[in-house]
Amino acid sequence: MSFEELNLHPKILKAIAQAGYSKPTPIQQDAIPMIMSGRDLRASAQTGTGKTAAFMLPTLNRLIEPSALPGRGPRVLVLVPTRELAMQVATEAVKYSKFLSRMKTVCLFGGVPYPMQIRELARPYEILVATPGRLLDHCEQNRIDFSRLELFILDEADRMLDMGFISSVEQLAATLPKTVQTLMFSATLKGNIYNLSQRLLKDPLEVSVIPVKQNKENIQQNLYFVDNLSHKLQLLEHLLENQALDQTIIFTSTKRYAEQLVTILKESGHHAAALHGDMNQHKRTQTLLRIRQGKTRILVATDVAARGIDVQAIGHVINFDLPMNVEDYVHRIGRTGRAETKGVAISFAAPQDFMMLKKIEQYIEQAIAPCVIEGMEAQTKPEAHLSRPRSRPGRGFAGRGRGGHSAPRGNQQERGSYQENRGEKRAERPSRSYKGNGKNSSFGNSSYGKPRQNGYGASSVAPTKSRYSN
Ligand code: ADP
Ligand code: MG
Repeated sequence: MSFEELNLHPKILKAIAQAGYSKPTPIQQDAIPMIMSGRDLRASAQTGTGKTAAFMLPTLNRLIEPSALPGRGPRVLVLVPTRELAMQVATEAVKYSKFLSRMKTVCLFGGVPYPMQIRELARPYEILVATPGRLLDHCEQNRIDFSRLELFILDEADRMLDMGFISSVEQLAATLPKTVQTLMFSATLKGNIYNLSQRLLKDPLEVSVIPVKQNKENIQQNLYFVDNLSHKLQLLEHLLENQALDQTIIFTSTKRYAEQLVTILKESGHHAAALHGDMNQHKRTQTLLRIRQGKTRILVATDVAARGIDVQAIGHVINFDLPMNVEDYVHRIGRTGRAETKGVAISFAAPQDFMMLKKIEQYIEQAIAPCVIEGMEAQTKPEAHLSRPRSRPGRGFAGRGRGGHSAPRGNQQERGSYQENRGEKRAERPSRSYKGNGKNSSFGNSSYGKPRQNGYGASSVAPTKSRYSN
């Protein structure tokens, strides 16, 4: 099927051609006619399948017809969970509407001053892309007139729920005109997200393109068993130095760990930058820009900050810490292999991650190929760990790690062995401290390296609100 067959306006087709798209992706083929029919839609497709264009193209097509209603408020509202995604969606709206006249996009998100946004809202515009928190702020000040709204689009709706935006979304939906066409896009449509869609959508059409778990053929998934943190760091160094790794996103389980890993990578001469929700908006935008321009090779990110990031040059994703839930695994690896390019996703699994690893493999319905680097093999056998009684997770680990150390001393040894491996003499030095806590939190001294009750890394840190403070 070609884009021409989708009955899009020639000016939109021209923009699509300029974007270099030769044919619509499966979700675009299915969703575009459904959206054009005017019905509500519940759509799911895995990341990187072109969902943005799937809703933006028919939306623009509709906006070409002038509004029958007076007013200068938005005709389309796209609600997204994160700032990065807001910018990305707004950029795509501008890209596809470049040959259309009177098609202004306004993008609202938190973490930046209000005056500029207030000025933009005061002028006529058609498309509004926003994160829920900041949008509600503006709504409370009566700065947005939704009276001529025609389309309400929720992008990454599942993540919106994960981030606790559910009541904001419902609050907002209740203020929109009853006639609005609502579209919900999500990587998954299970559980709460389905319930939300039942409340927001009226007699919706539904499209689900290839379950998330399949179709990742263009992404090669590799696995390295690791014994402990220092082993992870050694492997990472090795991978970064010895393989033809181009632009890479490394995932850590928390913001603090992301910062710590960046510090370590910079010390070994890598161009690395962090991306997480504690950074101010300017810094985040700059970081993304540098990645897009190819100036930063390694991005160390948390799940939420990296959500929806679309940089085609990212050839590798490294799960330094495994994610806390299986869906995040799919979202993470979806940062590479964008638009059919080839990608590689590498995961490190420490003994206490094996249960999560099993869950991931069940979810994606395939085993992830284990790899070894000669001389850097893990000493811990996964089978041995999996058969261990669950009441004592991590116990054996402290004693079995590379240094065979006890838990409290483990930190020192972790740090020591990493530094030794890098041939660097490690003198005592003042520890780095992190935002808002004056605690001793250099990599080696922090809880990162500490074998915890249920291990360090992804599986050890419960998801908290603050993790989602984007
Ligand atoms: P998703 O929201 O499903 O994760 P995106 O909308 O971010 O995916 O699209 C992923 C990438 O695919 C983007 O770089 C986008 O420009 C590109 N893309 C979208 N549609 C097409 C198409 N029809 N052909 C080629 N590339 C496309
Ligand atoms: Mg998307």
